[in-house]
Amino acid sequence: MTMIEAPDGLKAGVERRVEKPSLVGLTRDELAAALVGAGIAERQAKMRAAQLWHWLYLRGATDFSVMTNISKDLRARLADTFVIDRPEIVSEQISNDGTRKWLFRYPSRGAGRPVEIETVYIPEEGRGTLCLSSQVGCTLSCSFCHTGTQKLVRNLTSGEIVGQILAARDRLGDHTGGAPIEGAVPSTGRLVSNVVMMGMGEPLYNFDEVKKALLIASDNEGIGLSRRRITLSTSGVVPMIERAGAEIGVMLAISLHAVRDALRDELVPINKKYPIAELLAACRAYPGLSNARRITFEYVMLKGVNDSAADARQLVKLLAGIPAKINLIPFNPWPGNTYECSDWEQIERFADIVNRAGYASPIRTPRGRDILAACGQLKSESERLRIRERLALEAMLPSAAE
Ligand code: SAH
Ligand code: SF4
Repeated sequence: MTMIEAPDGLKAGVERRVEKPSLVGLTRDELAAALVGAGIAERQAKMRAAQLWHWLYLRGATDFSVMTNISKDLRARLADTFVIDRPEIVSEQISNDGTRKWLFRYPSRGAGRPVEIETVYIPEEGRGTLCLSSQVGCTLSCSFCHTGTQKLVRNLTSGEIVGQILAARDRLGDHTGGAPIEGAVPSTGRLVSNVVMMGMGEPLYNFDEVKKALLIASDNEGIGLSRRRITLSTSGVVPMIERAGAEIGVMLAISLHAVRDALRDELVPINKKYPIAELLAACRAYPGLSNARRITFEYVMLKGVNDSAADARQLVKLLAGIPAKINLIPFNPWPGNTYECSDWEQIERFADIVNRAGYASPIRTPRGRDILAACGQLKSESERLRIRERLALEAMLPSAAE
């Protein structure tokens, strides 16, 4: 494992203040309106917005000075008025298997404190997946999820969500460089080829910002990821599922994890509000669902809890008629939690039953274990380390009584 603290001289521990508004994360219309607000003539704003869009999202520019098709004067005016924001990189860890984990810091909003979130990049044969966070903490408290123990601090803005993609692409050298200005977006050879909303938070409880961010990620003239390569994972916010399909149009993943309501109430407590039958009805009605656009059902393997052959058979029955993939996730243990990961033979037995019923059921291989990079477990280790460091430090300091 390689651990890089605050790469490129970005100093951890120093709170940066954003004095000017950032252009990252605005819709095209908002971008044009921001330019008009900065004194650019209305008839020019759309064209300027398109130019900026290209620099921000296709080329990954972080500075107005590189935008050579915009006049020097205008570049100076833009730089006086706006910033092109990136998260502060507190640390970057690179696992032995190439997985990378960043701890990103965002400035305070209003009276709040700066917040930190983690983003993970998982390279695989032929593709690279970036796992994004949508909130700091989570209002839900799934019993096996570490994020569920951290209460919601705040929603991330669209700019902060897109900022995770841009910062990862900066660090990976994944922006399109040197292509002619009108150049087509390359569809192959991209290091970040897929995006999953599977980090911290429940994306459908931050719908508007997640929608804006994912529409930017899938915009053809910018980051240009196909909507089929973007997956939004939800614990089952039923009333928002239809809108996610209709308005964002990305692939859907459902954190199912149990096939009986009594058990799912315990593991994924939002089930008490939206039980399995309602959730699956929303899945059946998901806009654009077809054999080519299947829903992924995530199922965390918990020893002796949800991993029996009967559970597997019930799962197959429940999903009958839904174009589906089943993603079996080995449980990632964390301190203070009493669940255990199912034995490997049990996971394989479970996968066999599901496979025989005609469903693909890949077992998600744990990646980046040495840097604790599992989705759903983000931020936990860095917090723990901090606490440990703090305790060590406190032990060295004279106590108040002395
Ligand atoms: N809130 C959303 C997305 C973030 S969680 C959701 O719940 O779907 C991303 C995935 O990681 C979910 O399927 C979640 O159930 C799973 N997960 C959470 N904690 C985990 C753990 N300790 N081990 C394995 N998977 C976990
Ligand atoms: Fe929140 Fe998802 Fe974790 Fe549940 S599994 S607590 S919804 S992040």
